[in-house]
Amino acid sequence: MFMQNKRLTTYQQKRDFSKTPEPKGEEKLEKQKGLIFVIQKHAASHLHYDFRLEMDGILKSWALPKGPSLNPQDKRLAIETEDHPLSYKDFEGVIPKEQYGGGTVLVWDHGTYDCFSSQEDYKKGHLVVILKGQKLKGKFTLQRFKKKDKPQWLLIKAHDEYENSNYDVTFDNKSTISGKTLKEINPEAPDD
Ligand code: MN
Repeated sequence: MFMQNKRLTTYQQKRDFSKTPEPKGEEKLEKQKGLIFVIQKHAASHLHYDFRLEMDGILKSWALPKGPSLNPQDKRLAIETEDHPLSYKDFEGVIPKEQYGGGTVLVWDHGTYDCFSSQEDYKKGHLVVILKGQKLKGKFTLQRFKKKDKPQWLLIKAHDEYENSNYDVTFDNKSTISGKTLKEINPEAPDD
């Protein structure tokens, strides 16, 4: 699979790859077992979490201003952002200040997921997934409530054995690939 992918045009146009260490999205990737999911903690102008699901050779992406939650009572806003290349799943590091998304990125959780929705469901704005991460496990729903301009969704934990009504996203702030905190990746990163 060679990622010369039209769907990455927006991603590529927003970035100057001579200045940012982020992947260009032209890499050849070995086919993995299962669909990839990743959540990156991103200390940009505002701290947020980027939720990404592999779909048809790219990573569908949503920005979560408050991060994910294992509490089914929490309805977490998920703002759709541009598709990212699959290789972005391993990106952790510092995006220079003047660049798009300038700040520090940490791989907060990663793993695979099972999808229980059809292409039709997705187009209608409804997704049911089971995440198999290091931190997040179990069933989640994504429901779109605003379609125009920047589509907005809600990410909600479904009831199952992994729900946790005392969940606090800041409790585990280390990278699942390097074990580092934001500060350990970049001493200039804000406290989390
Ligand atoms: Mn981001």
